Amino acid sequence: MDFQYYMPVRIVSGEDCVKKNARLFRELGEHVLVVTGKSSAKNGALEDAVFAFNLNGQKYTVFDRVPNNPTVACVEEGARIAAECHADCVVAIGGGSPMDAAKAIAMRARQAAPEGLFAHAITEDVLPMAHIPTTAGTGSEVTPYAIITNDEKQTKTSISAPSLFPVYAFLDAKYMACLPQNVTVNTALDALSHAVEGMLSVRANLITDALARESISLLWGEYDSLLKGEYSAQSRRNLLHGSVLAGMVIANTGTSPVHGMGYSLTYFHDVPHGRANGLLLPAFLKVCREKIPQRAEQIYSALGMDADTFSRKVSALLGRREEYSDRELQDFAARAAKNKNIKNCSAYFTQDDLLRVLRASLGDGTVL
Ligand code: NAP
Ligand code: FE
Repeated sequence: MDFQYYMPVRIVSGEDCVKKNARLFRELGEHVLVVTGKSSAKNGALEDAVFAFNLNGQKYTVFDRVPNNPTVACVEEGARIAAECHADCVVAIGGGSPMDAAKAIAMRARQAAPEGLFAHAITEDVLPMAHIPTTAGTGSEVTPYAIITNDEKQTKTSISAPSLFPVYAFLDAKYMACLPQNVTVNTALDALSHAVEGMLSVRANLITDALARESISLLWGEYDSLLKGEYSAQSRRNLLHGSVLAGMVIANTGTSPVHGMGYSLTYFHDVPHGRANGLLLPAFLKVCREKIPQRAEQIYSALGMDADTFSRKVSALLGRREEYSDRELQDFAARAAKNKNIKNCSAYFTQDDLLRVLRASLGDGTVL
């Protein structure tokens, strides 16, 4: 089979990697715009980055107003601040929300986009970026995607271009030492979903499959830690590395209707992104097993368990499930059926199939 695999991000991993590789930030430019959330950089990551900037004699401005599920307004505010401080580069510190916002800000700082963020054809002209993840889930530090809330369409929309890949990703699991249990579980489920959805993609290939299998092994190997909420430094590293590998998968394969359906849970009910995927993934995989049994079995084999055990184990991590009216689930299925990642899945999901997954996950408890 012919395929291509592209990964331009230089990944720098290890304890204190930001301080030890401080000189790499110098290459990005003189004035750094740091993009982060309210508290997500206050785990030592901002301190380490500032140490690096000071060592390099770089100036910096901190924009710390990125909300969860970043909005167009926050991107515009960040781009305005980038212009005011004449930023030459962007350093993102945080979970997927600040990392995604940083990409859109780095783009808007250089491109006017008069037709609107979502309609704009992104060019190569984007401020250079370095990403420092403080959650282990989205893999945004190695993807060319920024997922931004789209109020006009009442969903979350991915903007994407090769120029949105960061130049550097700095991976230090010490920033996750105090990550709350719910965020740890939700983000691990997001990463697991990326690896599984990547294997279900029509663009899956030899390299993405190898990355996905290793990712699943690292992430699911930490199942007991996730269930107990007890993490050694090695567990934190495994979760971080599992999430980066999964990011390297979706950077090339894209995601599946799991993400397409999950966006409605987040947009309308504020369900955290990773939790939304975790709620839907086991039932989705069961319907895949009906349609593409061989591929589904390869995934269960990578997980090291059968379909029912996987469903039970994910449920134990999620706790009490949200429930929605059937009418709402029908609306979510109709929305997901229009999402472009329907075509990206090697099993074809009709609107009825999506509704079956939604009902089994969040409705009448239909057993698949
Ligand atoms: P997040 O929305 O970035 O963060 C969730 C919460 O965790 C926030 O309250 C954050 O605080 C807090 N937090 C982050 N790091 C922390 C730390 N080390 N210690 C304590 N608290 C910390 O969550 P996420 O799951 O990482 O990102 C989700 C977003 O990523 C969604 O918008 C999703 O659509 C997107 N996503 C993007 C990609 C991609 O390829 N680009 C892939 C999957 C998902 P603050 O409020 O201070 O930030
Ligand atoms: Fe995701």
